[in-house]
Amino acid sequence: MRTKQLNSSLSLQFGGGSEEWIEFACPCGNGKIIEQHCSIPGVYEHDVTIICDHCKQNYTFDLSKGIRAWELIEK
Ligand SMILES: [Zn+2]
Repeated sequence: MRTKQLNSSLSLQFGGGSEEWIEFACPCGNGKIIEQHCSIPGVYEHDVTIICDHCKQNYTFDLSKGIRAWELIEK
């Protein structure tokens, strides 16, 4: 399950890296899902997190197609 995108930001870093941040609604609508991509020389982090106590307990991510193609699945 994918949820509605609320916000995003992309900032280019000195030296050629970039930091990207995308915010989605969580399934119950009271929290958020934050997807972050950080590609700075020496730092390469990709992460997606549920920021909602309720949804954290009920959903997990299927990342088999990659972080950017995350799918929420019920636990
Ligand atoms: Zn929620």
